[in-house]
Amino acid sequence: MKQSQKEKIIELRNDGLTYKEIANAVNLSESAVKSFFSRKNKAVCAMCKVEITGKKRFCSDECRMLWWRKHPHKTAKMTEITCAVCGKKFYSYPSKHRKYCSKKCYGKSCRGENYHDK
Ligand SMILES: [Zn+2]
Ligand SMILES: [Zn+2]
Repeated sequence: MKQSQKEKIIELRNDGLTYKEIANAVNLSESAVKSFFSRKNKAVCAMCKVEITGKKRFCSDECRMLWWRKHPHKTAKMTEITCAVCGKKFYSYPSKHRKYCSKKCYGKSCRGENYHDK
């Protein structure tokens, strides 16, 4: 299996295609595609293709945001929110409760450190 095929497989999987559809797209057998995913339990960052552990799709918040920027059609329900504490922009489903980019910032806001001293 070529590296380009592997990348394509991962990309198509991230797009939600079935093993069969992926197999057709990269000219491999369905079982080859299946084994590609079952061989290792390691996930690969959908953005930079770096290997990651666990069930995450991205290695970092940066990759997650980059990916969403590149796939606006998949983020129709997501909106860009500016963190009320650090001003960092992030994507989330609209919610009154989602004002902070991270637990850290949420903690800061709870401690009244809303606008950090610069
Ligand atoms: Zn990444
Ligand atoms: Zn923040």
